Amino acid sequence: MTQPRVLIVEDDPELRRVLQRGLAEEGFAPEAVATGAELLARVDSASPDLLVVDIGLPDADGRDLCQALRARGIQAPVLFLTARDALPDRLSGFDAGGDDYVTKPFAFTEVVARLHALARRAGADGAIDAAGLRLDPIAHAVSSGASSTPLTPTEFRLLARLLARPGETVRRRDLVRAGWPHGAIVHENTLDAYAARLRRKLRALDHAPTITTVHGVGYRLR
Ligand code: CA
Repeated sequence: MTQPRVLIVEDDPELRRVLQRGLAEEGFAPEAVATGAELLARVDSASPDLLVVDIGLPDADGRDLCQALRARGIQAPVLFLTARDALPDRLSGFDAGGDDYVTKPFAFTEVVARLHALARRAGADGAIDAAGLRLDPIAHAVSSGASSTPLTPTEFRLLARLLARPGETVRRRDLVRAGWPHGAIVHENTLDAYAARLRRKLRALDHAPTITTVHGVGYRLR
């Protein structure tokens, strides 16, 4: 995670600006939205490594949003922003699958420190199990049963994106966004070459699903 992608949802425009600008200066790749609806619309293509979620949003409760994200298979750690006097909120935030919180008003350095800690923790036990495969972010490997094969970081991110929705077609542009840094120029045949390599690696594993090409649309794992 050289430049962790952070998706921020915060309805206060000033606070949103401060977070976005500050996190960019701290080496994160932030994107910010103002409502829960925008977050749900953006989260798949943004494929964030970390989320910053305000609990008090105009159209949703941040904890409900977090539950919705988990139900969609999004496992990125969540840092909740919550009111200082809202201790019950903090606790139910954790129940919703969130990972940490800061209380408003917060020191920006605290947000940065917590995000770094969450990023490290996600790397420590963030293995993904889906479709009979296990993606190990420490070993950067994929395994099926007793067989295992190493992956490059880009292969890892592409496979993680496919594994988030096994059986569903993932669009080419969503795979490019997941696999490469924001703004990178990725040629059509580069994605195809990566998919072909991933397909060969999965074929070498015992009982692994296969990567299917959906022509003109994307790829599917099944
Ligand atoms: Ca708010």
